[in-house]
Amino acid sequence: MRDIDFKLIEAERLASKTIDEFGICLPEHIRIRDIAFAKGAMVVEQRLTRAAASIVKIGDHATIRIPPTDTLERKRFSIAHELGHLLMGHVESIQRVCSDDDMMNWYQGSQETQANFFASELILPTKLVSRRCDIGNISFDPVRQIAKDFRASLTATAIKFVRLCPEKCAVVYSTKGKVKWFYKSPDWWPFIHRDQKLDKRTLAYDFFIGEPMEPEPVEVDADAWVESRGLDEIVEHSIASSQYGFVLSLLWIKP
Ligand SMILES: [Zn+2]
Repeated sequence: MRDIDFKLIEAERLASKTIDEFGICLPEHIRIRDIAFAKGAMVVEQRLTRAAASIVKIGDHATIRIPPTDTLERKRFSIAHELGHLLMGHVESIQRVCSDDDMMNWYQGSQETQANFFASELILPTKLVSRRCDIGNISFDPVRQIAKDFRASLTATAIKFVRLCPEKCAVVYSTKGKVKWFYKSPDWWPFIHRDQKLDKRTLAYDFFIGEPMEPEPVEVDADAWVESRGLDEIVEHSIASSQYGFVLSLLWIKP
């Protein structure tokens, strides 16, 4: 578990303790609203202006607000994220408001990243997911299946997958034709630049110029994505969200 901040490990531990506490051993046991309720937070669906979710705490009672228009996957993640803030003592003033960017913050080690690691472990518990990440042929296919079974977003599932997969792989999130952030497996070594413009040779590039993106995994020149240092090729499998305007790319260095 190299490169992971101590506080992020703590956030994961707290979530897996919660999973054990509720005797969860199947994905369908993870009833996020019930868990939140048992921990003192009621979930209310309500339109929010300029926020992805919020939590209000008064005394021992907390209310988590999420927009009714979100997908089931996003709702589950937002509730788990806010519950993470509550259980980790992040709700210092009465209210805490979280943005879309906060829900996508996997890289700063801030309280937002901690809440995301908590949510990731609550929704995709390592003990239930890890065996399914131990596979040789890396693509979005197993990620899609895990996401479906655990009612998790593809982004959260891809991060978990890369985190637990023994292969050298990474997930890259791009918006507006640029790399916004990435998450890598413990053994991944090539350097990926944040904020760099996507290379024309990547599959992800096509999405941002309005071209259809290759739906299958393809071997591309390694230096189109990373500082290659003698590495020739990398397998890229990319999927796009037209609704939210981003591409997720799963990169894999074949052994
Ligand atoms: Zn937050």
